[in-house]
Amino acid sequence: RSLAAPSIFMPVGLPGVVVSGTGLQLAPQGVWKKILRPVAPHYDDKTHLRVLGASSAVESPGGPQDIQADSRPAAGEAKVSAHAKVPELRQPKTSRENLKRAAKGSNERPSSQDASPRLRLPETKAEECRARSIVPGWFGGLASSSRNETEGEMNLLASVFAGRPPVVFFDYDPRCNAAPRDYSRLLDRAEVQSMGISSLPQMFFCLQITRDVHEYNAVVNTFKFAGFERVNADSPKFAIYWGPHPAPEMLRGFNPFQRANHFPGSWQLGRKDLLGKNIYRMKRQFAKDYNILPSGFTLPEESAAWNQAREKNPNFLWIWKPINLSCGKGIRLFGSWIPPGVERKILQRAGIVQRYIDRPLLINGFKFDLRLYVVVTSFDPLKVYINSEGLVRLATQKYQCSPDSLDERTMHLTNYSVNKHAACYKQNLDSRAKGQEGRGSKAEDLEGEGEEADDGDMGDDNEDQEEANMGESSKWSLRQLEEYLTAQGVDYGELMSRIEDVIIKTLIAAEPQIVNTWHQGANFSTASPTPIQQVTPNQTCFEIYGFDVMVDDELQPWLLEVNVFPSLSSSSPYDKRVKTQLIADVFTLIGLMPYDHDVVDKACKGEQAKRLQGSARSLVIGRSHTVSSIKSASFKSFGEAEWRLILETHEENMRRGHLTRIFPREGSGFYNQFFSTPRYSNLVLERWIQLGGEQLRQRFSPDDEVIERDGLPLPVSFRAV
Ligand code: ADP
Repeated sequence: RSLAAPSIFMPVGLPGVVVSGTGLQLAPQGVWKKILRPVAPHYDDKTHLRVLGASSAVESPGGPQDIQADSRPAAGEAKVSAHAKVPELRQPKTSRENLKRAAKGSNERPSSQDASPRLRLPETKAEECRARSIVPGWFGGLASSSRNETEGEMNLLASVFAGRPPVVFFDYDPRCNAAPRDYSRLLDRAEVQSMGISSLPQMFFCLQITRDVHEYNAVVNTFKFAGFERVNADSPKFAIYWGPHPAPEMLRGFNPFQRANHFPGSWQLGRKDLLGKNIYRMKRQFAKDYNILPSGFTLPEESAAWNQAREKNPNFLWIWKPINLSCGKGIRLFGSWIPPGVERKILQRAGIVQRYIDRPLLINGFKFDLRLYVVVTSFDPLKVYINSEGLVRLATQKYQCSPDSLDERTMHLTNYSVNKHAACYKQNLDSRAKGQEGRGSKAEDLEGEGEEADDGDMGDDNEDQEEANMGESSKWSLRQLEEYLTAQGVDYGELMSRIEDVIIKTLIAAEPQIVNTWHQGANFSTASPTPIQQVTPNQTCFEIYGFDVMVDDELQPWLLEVNVFPSLSSSSPYDKRVKTQLIADVFTLIGLMPYDHDVVDKACKGEQAKRLQGSARSLVIGRSHTVSSIKSASFKSFGEAEWRLILETHEENMRRGHLTRIFPREGSGFYNQFFSTPRYSNLVLERWIQLGGEQLRQRFSPDDEVIERDGLPLPVSFRAV
């Protein structure tokens, strides 16, 4: 198999891998530089990486002048020797700024107010960068430009691997009152300069406000705090598009560094009827495994089937929900016998009817449901994270299930909008959720309660207005739920893993449609004639989903709905903190590379022109295996494409903040059976995890000789310290 030699890919791929006609080879050992980059709690679960860094021995088509072939030391290299003891991250005693300095030494990063002359890339190098055609890679020249004065300061987070580009770091806006982030991997000015970045570029975001997309402080402030400037949605300058679902055509126009906050096809999850269709289709094939959504019917189309179900099960209770509404609006409950007038009315509107879960798990006698924040950074491969905090929403009337009580909405529905006016809605104006220290947010920092959603509004903004009311209140944090259930003898860990199973299965049920639509908008590589050979498409999208889940008294979780526009309103100190943290974590997680819009735009146009003339080089990095051979492949047989995916996946996980990756992970192979199409990218990651994943190691003797290997290419090593 021969690999097309990548050009500017090299520094972002496997450092030091020499690509030759026959595949991966290792450069002579002596040329590797070593780096042990300490990684701190927010990014790491005690696994530290030892990576042999990029070197001048890297062969690339551009020859020795290429930026990637630069022999400058990798960032941080000078400071930490291969066998240095990993410094422990000290928790801050002082302010956020002191912590930042303590983590980084006394080096100040350049700020927009900085009066000193800007760092400059040598003219020849800058020209070379500009002249180079662009592929989905990154090099310092892309990120060098002058910067306007903006409110915040952009910081870059170093990769855990030497030779890979830094990404933009999104800090928690101090007004959200979160505990400080870990700053130990932030790059200081000298380190940024050593990467060929003369001065940080101005980066942009856009917000396209619609009926579903609101302007949230958590989003806007996080961008501003990171120094991003707002542009209109019709400007091509944005690095992150925040708005309604993008059409595939829009994604095709993206440059390799732009990201959108939705996948184009995720209505397959967000619309109650489509979600039902996807899950019931899976249930027909995997009856036992896919019993995750209460059985139901789309009305009026499936009214005959519903009639049959009612005749067969006269004791069942049913819940009817209009398709296009949220916040409990229009919901009706009834037994199997329904007065003909009511039935006629129901069948006139688009809705779904579901079996009512009549024996819910209760908290102090009250029904509750959970709002969980789930983040997907890619559907090919599928990569899913869950946020550590969420919401527990309680009804306000003690639960009892009898046909006479079915009209009691504050007993049966847990929506905030339904319960907020109930006399017994308990408010607790604690400014902090349990376990956090510090000052409370000022009331004027908080967003208002918002308007009631109109008909047709799919957002759930009214649902999150009272998260401050922790404790004796009608809304709890997950931490409180854990304490409560543990005290009741419930295995909370087991319950959460069942819930995670429901989340993964739900995403897999919609995966074929979402991947299809997404691929329509994916320019796999700007110069790829055979995109199918690539391991993954360009990662243009990410999405935050609000999963609503109920638990029954046998501790079985049931999916209620997936919200594709979960409310991110900051109407209370608690939700301000949770949501601001979530947004900063997600923006850091997606790994936005710093780039100058004009440089990239020019390079993209150059590349396009070359393609039209037929002179573009193919930059496809082919697969080393097939879908069937990868299942039993050894590490030695992995090629550059596979390693690239693995490094990206690991690196992303090391930026996770308060998120936890739930797919892929150990045991994920169980879910293979549910994918309608086996995807190569999923199988690569599964095989990697099967073979040891991050536990893989190369052992080194005290004088740095490799004494034992697990078949990893020499430049890559995942070593637990
Ligand atoms: P909406 O989008 O209007 O909020 P949901 O599907 O979230 O609609 O339902 C609203 C509330 O109704 C839920 O929070 C839950 O309390 C209750 N509910 C929904 N479906 C069921 C069900 N199948 N069984 C029991 N309760 C349900």
